Amino acid sequence: MTLAFLRRTFREHYFRHHDYIEMPEKVESREFGYTLFGRGMIRHLSYKTSGELAADLVKQGPSSVYCSNATYSNPTLAMDEKGWKGAELIFDIDASAIPTACQARHSFWACKDCGKIARSAEGPGTCQKCGGTSLAHLPWSCPECLAATKDHVARLISFLTEDFGVANTDIAVYFSGNRGYHLHVGDTRFESMQPEARAEVANYVRGTGLIRPQRTDDSANGGWLARMASAQHGDQPPKMAELAGAFGSRIDESVTTDIHRIFRMPGTLHGSSGLLKAHVHDLAAFRPDYDPVVLGDDEVSVWVQGSPAFSLKGKTFGPFSGEEAELPTYAAVYLMTKGLGRVEG
Ligand SMILES: [Zn+2]
Ligand SMILES: [Zn+2]
Repeated sequence: MTLAFLRRTFREHYFRHHDYIEMPEKVESREFGYTLFGRGMIRHLSYKTSGELAADLVKQGPSSVYCSNATYSNPTLAMDEKGWKGAELIFDIDASAIPTACQARHSFWACKDCGKIARSAEGPGTCQKCGGTSLAHLPWSCPECLAATKDHVARLISFLTEDFGVANTDIAVYFSGNRGYHLHVGDTRFESMQPEARAEVANYVRGTGLIRPQRTDDSANGGWLARMASAQHGDQPPKMAELAGAFGSRIDESVTTDIHRIFRMPGTLHGSSGLLKAHVHDLAAFRPDYDPVVLGDDEVSVWVQGSPAFSLKGKTFGPFSGEEAELPTYAAVYLMTKGLGRVEG
């Protein structure tokens, strides 16, 4: 029942709002894929037009929709027969990768079997109450975490524009639909780069493998040398690891180096939250717990297994512990996609 409800809700969303979907350039050369609720991934799909894709989404109501950053001669063939032509440069920054002192305080695990809530940054592995192993991570974010994640996005943008000379207009920033951000770089200089070259870009941005220069030059007018010089206080040169922490952007390098991946499509719903992978036009003003909430607010009766209090669209819900609740659709879907709520009938 719950899976059918989710599927129906997503189908209705795509019926009404397929204009949210951002189609990539060269649609016909991209590989598409999606997952259906309760089922695995279907990939190696191809669409000729945005209308064709929208029609399929309305028909299928997928939990998540993906598109390649690469273009291929034959996107529907097996990977080694597709004929790789090039790929946009992509970055992924997830809140969980950014160390904040507060994370342990507001990170919860909920047992999908008995509803017990445990507070911990690390996964407990098994439920201490029923021994179940089906646990949902509820990494509730706080203002400090949200600000730290944005700060790493801003650092990445500064590397791209200042160090690599990428035009701001070639950088598209998206909220991932869960707890992070994706950056799509349209600058064609990166398109033909192989994974090794992308790894060097990723390492540079993260500050991995920085080597202390013979001497820090105050006249350095850019790059890591200038960042080092700005961190120099007195005679004591800063440690390389501290520099990487202070200036590097904690991107996921495995995402940047993978040139055959399919990525969540801009303007589609995230299957683990019901939130939109939203285009962020003003990073400072973007509200990740408000702006990507696009599902409706019709009230739904949900049985909530267990959940700490959470806020969406300026409203706070819960905490819940094995009880029936009347929730707006977006909040009900948020719990259901995490396996913590269900609907009957
Ligand atoms: Zn349990
Ligand atoms: Zn926090």
